Amino acid sequence: MATDYDEVRPDVAEARKASLDAVKTANAPDARSVSSELDEADTADGVDLPGADLSNEELTVTVVPQAEDEFLCGSCFLIRHHSMLARVSNGVSYCLECEG
Ligand SMILES: [Zn+2]
Repeated sequence: MATDYDEVRPDVAEARKASLDAVKTANAPDARSVSSELDEADTADGVDLPGADLSNEELTVTVVPQAEDEFLCGSCFLIRHHSMLARVSNGVSYCLECEG
């Protein structure tokens, strides 16, 4: 049974990473059509589409120095306090919000 765990965990991590890449790649067109269907009012009101705001966040991350008790989430690209650290995979940290 221990072998199963060893096989499942990297598999899950890979699947998660792959789906993350897929989301990033397909984000803009999908999010646009989906959110305009589901939430026209919010989108018109200036609520940022998923992915649209990430470039801004990256700029913020570049400018603000990362403290020793903080980490850069590899999913939402926000600087998080160490207490928000949920998982580290392949040297990339993920925050509790992204890990759900
Ligand atoms: Zn995150």
